[in-house]
Amino acid sequence: MGIDRTKMYDVVIAGAGLAGLTAALHLRKQGWEVLCVERDALPRHKVCGEYVSNEIREYLYFLGFNPKKYGCVEVEQFRMYGQSGKSLSHNLKMGGFGLSRYTMDQALFEIALDAGVDFIRDEVTAVTTTDQSVIQTLSGVTVSCKLFISAAGKRSKIDKALSREFMQNRTHWMGVKAHYTGQWNPKEVALYQFDGGYCGISNVEDDRVNVCYLVRTDEFKKYGDFDEFENKVICANPAFNMAIDQLERVMERKVISQIYFGKKEKGSQQASYLGDAAGMIYPLAGNGMAMAIHSSKLFCHFADEFLRGEKTRMEMNASYAKKWDMVFQARITRSRLIQSLMSQKVLSKLAMNTLPYFPWILSRIIEGTHGDTVRLENEKATYEKTT
Ligand SMILES: Cc1cc2nc3c(=O)[nH]c(=O)nc-3n(C[C@H](O)[C@H](O)[C@H](O)COP(=O)(O)OP(=O)(O)OC[C@H]3O[C@@H](n4cnc5c(N)ncnc54)[C@H](O)[C@@H]3O)c2cc1C
Repeated sequence: MGIDRTKMYDVVIAGAGLAGLTAALHLRKQGWEVLCVERDALPRHKVCGEYVSNEIREYLYFLGFNPKKYGCVEVEQFRMYGQSGKSLSHNLKMGGFGLSRYTMDQALFEIALDAGVDFIRDEVTAVTTTDQSVIQTLSGVTVSCKLFISAAGKRSKIDKALSREFMQNRTHWMGVKAHYTGQWNPKEVALYQFDGGYCGISNVEDDRVNVCYLVRTDEFKKYGDFDEFENKVICANPAFNMAIDQLERVMERKVISQIYFGKKEKGSQQASYLGDAAGMIYPLAGNGMAMAIHSSKLFCHFADEFLRGEKTRMEMNASYAKKWDMVFQARITRSRLIQSLMSQKVLSKLAMNTLPYFPWILSRIIEGTHGDTVRLENEKATYEKTT
């Protein structure tokens, strides 16, 4: 990773997660000079179910990333287990793939590096924007650019520095992930309900099995540690108990807290926000990653107009926010409804007993939390223009 300190960048991005990396690549393809600042060392594991909806597959190809090259597992079916162990299954219309964040983020990073994106390992701590943005980092680097993007994930120092409103709100959720080896149907992603949350199991590359759960922090705190919580609470679901019995954990658990699912603004005078920094969907929908990647695509279109001088900063942010709401808001609302339905024992039991008789309702619910395949007409035209 290196930085040309004499360069006036067109764009600086905080965060080399999926949103930051795909935006960096896209903007670079449009011909802009991009610097990406990432706080952590790469590659690294992240708390995530690691099931990626195919809605963004074409877009990933456009960016030069083919998940097959990295050994992804094709997923075709979704199965939900109620707390009693009773299950419902659904063939995923679009399907998806399983690939660890360790592999995927690293691969996108390498592709972006090859494409000419500059990277530094540092933490963005402050930004001031008048006509241009001046970015400061923890280690004392100051860099100027025309456009600053925060793709710094669910909650970051930069959100605090920019006094973002959502930082005032309390958060109730934490996430835990580990990889396992053992028996699992690679074509299936399964979700197991338990008191206070749910746990997903699916395959990733190299025959690894991802086990990842979201739980209310107050429920988790009733127990001494992860082993006790998992044995007493998640394994109370008999289907999960059976599944986990076939698996052996092969990495330390990764944990995150302070997960916030409420509204966030998409842009301000200081910054424009992508991925989780712009808004999160409940993980039961299984497409937060697709949304993070898709948000980059939506934004890069307007960012290109801004950088060409065809739109003001305010117009760019307003157009992006409008498009973001149009594309994502309905599925976020549906995922919130399903989440609250599933977290109420009586309603959830009723749903698990009734839905098998009405499979079309289940299809509508699941497909309603996903989007259509991302189309690429504008990007192909722009790309052809610049190459
Ligand atoms: C429990 C759980 C399970 C999930 N399962 C799935 C799933 O199966 N499928 C799915 O599609 N989605 C899932 N998601 C959602 C998905 O993980 C996120 O939506 C996705 O990671 C968002 O990517 P991002 O690039 O916005 O953020 P991130 O991947 O979090 O990247 C943000 C990056 O910014 C860096 N950073 C932070 N602050 C700074 C700073 N100040 N300066 C520089 N760098 C900084 C961080 O180090 C990080 O690398 C799940 C989420 C949870 C919580």
